[in-house]
Amino acid sequence: MSRIGFIGLGNMGLPMAQNLIKAGHQVEGVDLNPALTDKLKAAGGTVVDFAKVAAARADVVITMLPAGKHVRDVYLGANGIIENANAGTLLIDCSTIDVETAREVASAAEARGLMMLDAPVSGGVGGATAGTLTFMVGGSAQAFTRAQSILEKMGKTIVHAGGAGTGQAAKICNNMILGISMIAVSEAFVLAEKLGLDHQKLFDISSKSSGQCWSMTTYCPVPGPVPTSPANRDYQAGFTADMMLKDLRLAQEAAKAAGAVTSLGANAERIYSSYAASGEGGCDFSGIIRYVRG
Ligand code: NAD
Repeated sequence: MSRIGFIGLGNMGLPMAQNLIKAGHQVEGVDLNPALTDKLKAAGGTVVDFAKVAAARADVVITMLPAGKHVRDVYLGANGIIENANAGTLLIDCSTIDVETAREVASAAEARGLMMLDAPVSGGVGGATAGTLTFMVGGSAQAFTRAQSILEKMGKTIVHAGGAGTGQAAKICNNMILGISMIAVSEAFVLAEKLGLDHQKLFDISSKSSGQCWSMTTYCPVPGPVPTSPANRDYQAGFTADMMLKDLRLAQEAAKAAGAVTSLGANAERIYSSYAASGEGGCDFSGIIRYVRG
């Protein structure tokens, strides 16, 4: 059993922390929102007031925060984790953030003799609740080995991607594929509509042909063919268009910094940006078909 400080108990963090409690770990949770810390308490966790308290007492600190600036504040701020953590504390950031911040925070941790991993996830709130997330992990082999038994309590697929920042690199590359492919599948369904081809017929053919992909077979953007997809519940998220836009922006920042040409990724960012600006940023990202339809 480990004493785990868990910072950020939102849509993803709370169910992840609950799975750690179920597995017998002692979890000390921190969030700015008292309603969420109350839920952790109800699940058998302990509530602590400041990130530094969790950091100073914990064997492992896990963070699940909205964006890079929150991660910087919590780790590098004056009362932050890096300044306060005990030697030997393992730090795991599961937030989706920019590669540069992930590397900067990891190197600050290393300078203080602390092991740190970036370990963003895929699988959404459903995966967090079921304990079936995919973790993409960047950092040293030694830190990865230490983290594995803890990550296994929250996820099913845990991949060591390489050194610091490569977990975040994997996450934004994956989500760039997803953003582009959801637009591609949406455009195909809209074209089919205009050509008089039935949604189900296109699905029956494409899901078994070379157009087959996750956006078609698991998350189909039209109601009917995949009953569990958000299209069947008026595009209630799921994974919001705002979150997809965040990840596409991170991919574009990284592409610019690295000098990579990602024309479709850039176009996908523009399309999701216009969709979110139309007021549907809180809808599931597969709702992009409504924007494509015009
Ligand atoms: P969320 O907004 O629901 O949760 C974030 C939590 O962090 C909030 O409860 C907030 O109060 C808390 N927080 C912010 N600053 C804090 C601070 N200084 N100290 C303590 N708590 C603080 O977001 P989420 O949906 O749980 O997502 C978290 C991360 O996971 C994001 O980086 C997101 O991109 C990523 N992610 C989300 C999903 C998803 O489907 N929701 C899927 C994969 C990855």
